[in-house]
Amino acid sequence: MFDKLVIPDTLAAGPGPGNTDPRVLEAFASAGVADHMQADVLRGMVECKKMLREVFGTKNTYTFGVGGTGWSALDCAHGAILPGDKVVVFVNGTFSGIDGLSIRMKASTPADLAANPLDPQPANVITVNVPHGESVTGEIVEAALAEHKPMWAFMAHWETGSGRINDIQGFNDACLKHDAIGIVDAVSSLGIENFNIDDYPGVGIWASCPQKGILALPLTYAPVSFTDKAIELVKTRGCYSFVHNPILEARHWGILDGKDVDAGTYHRTHSGYAVASFHEALRLLLDHGRAQKAADYAACEKVLREAVQAMGCEVTSNMTSLVVLNLPGDLAGREKELVGGCRAEGFGIWPTLSEPVQVRIGILNQLTKEAILDIIGRFATAMQKMGAEFDKEAIIAEADAKLN
Ligand SMILES: *Cc1c(COP(=O)(O)O)cnc(C)c1O
Repeated sequence: MFDKLVIPDTLAAGPGPGNTDPRVLEAFASAGVADHMQADVLRGMVECKKMLREVFGTKNTYTFGVGGTGWSALDCAHGAILPGDKVVVFVNGTFSGIDGLSIRMKASTPADLAANPLDPQPANVITVNVPHGESVTGEIVEAALAEHKPMWAFMAHWETGSGRINDIQGFNDACLKHDAIGIVDAVSSLGIENFNIDDYPGVGIWASCPQKGILALPLTYAPVSFTDKAIELVKTRGCYSFVHNPILEARHWGILDGKDVDAGTYHRTHSGYAVASFHEALRLLLDHGRAQKAADYAACEKVLREAVQAMGCEVTSNMTSLVVLNLPGDLAGREKELVGGCRAEGFGIWPTLSEPVQVRIGILNQLTKEAILDIIGRFATAMQKMGAEFDKEAIIAEADAKLN
């Protein structure tokens, strides 16, 4: 018999997951034992659906949570793409790269899959690669959609791999102009930036995750939203999934035949614990206020960015929940060693997951002065251990003054 598994408390200071709020954990642990059709569980799901519409800034009826992680929501989103559909995919980092793979799998014919089962290359999916560290611009999207005239276009809103914000307005405008339906990976932006998806009618499908901006428990519910037009396509063409079929998955959230109903109907066995924790995470976010939260992220990221710059690092990201940096010249090449040392001490920062190797420090749910100063202090100590020279106390004092 193994000993009972004990997992220590660490500081999750990476791109996600963020440290779960005690209120969310409490809601999870204190939910009563109830099945997936119990009245309060169903009421909770309907309330979550309504709160999610506020979080997304949408009137889309088909707005709900997909059981699982961000990739579950994205699987549901990409599932509207059928074999042979023409898709243009914009890739500027690890995650949009994986989205591209998922989309190529969906758009493949059996022959495409047989030719390369784990990495199919259907000719009907066109990938536009934008270098790591750069954003996808409206001009890039416009040029590609004008040339290829696809049925679908895909982009990550915020590419967490390289920490870059992509041009959602430009993407939207090009989709409208060229009559493509946009699909957007909003895993890293939802709950961080203050935006309304209804302002981007060129995007038909949005997908996010539980544990980044929403700060729900990982593996609970990943938010998605579909316009009526996107749902109409799924309704008329179908999709190759029961579990992640948006029309069927929405039933349990009280969405039936395009309309809200009082209580959901069975799709698969949901968890009252997961529903309770997700509900509390959404309440926390709306309590804080989307605009206030976005402003807090921007303010904290700025202070962290300036502190690591004062330590000699070069910041190449522009997201407000994450700083992606190159170490100063004499430490370059030792990124993984630095990150490994931090992680061994419970300071959970991350390297980039694809080339080039950079360091990523995130501030999800760390929007207090104490938390930001703690992150700056720990990172400074780790850099000094590796031989970097700077005045740590002065950098912390300056950050402290800015956070007042
Ligand atoms: C984190 C992330 C994902 C994957 O989310 P999981 O919850 O790990 O499945 C996908 N896309 C982007 C942009 C992300 O940041």
